[in-house]
Amino acid sequence: MKNPFAKASLKQLEELTQAKTFQTDKDIKILEKMDQLSETCDHCQNYLIAFEKTLDKISDEEGEKQTEAINAYHSLVKKITSHLTKKHKIVKKGYYLSLYMPLGTSLGVVFGLLLFDNLALGIPIGVGLGLAIGSLLDEDAKKKGLTI
Ligand SMILES: [Zn+2]
Repeated sequence: MKNPFAKASLKQLEELTQAKTFQTDKDIKILEKMDQLSETCDHCQNYLIAFEKTLDKISDEEGEKQTEAINAYHSLVKKITSHLTKKHKIVKKGYYLSLYMPLGTSLGVVFGLLLFDNLALGIPIGVGLGLAIGSLLDEDAKKKGLTI
């Protein structure tokens, strides 16, 4: 980690893991990406600062207030994840599969009815296509180091 906010956040996350407050393995991966991207992306830099502040709050508070801080933290992580996906094409593992499977299934239904007049034939074709495209894109994202 290069960014001072990333360094401080990593330390906080490690402490939270030791205290078993919540699972942080995925968050550390997100933090690593933000650390790299903060050099060129202002949004990531700002998110990184907010990330560290929110973690600070979790360590400072107790009881109900701490639960509130943890909730705020998790919603911030969601916002960051969506920024990483939209702006930097960084996705969660299995993201494309979860995107293309339902798409394939609904296309299968449509084409099954339109082309073959047979729903039972269209659905497996659509599911197969969704599976193939989704897995391919997931594999590609993994190769390019674009997964969290
Ligand atoms: Zn960014």
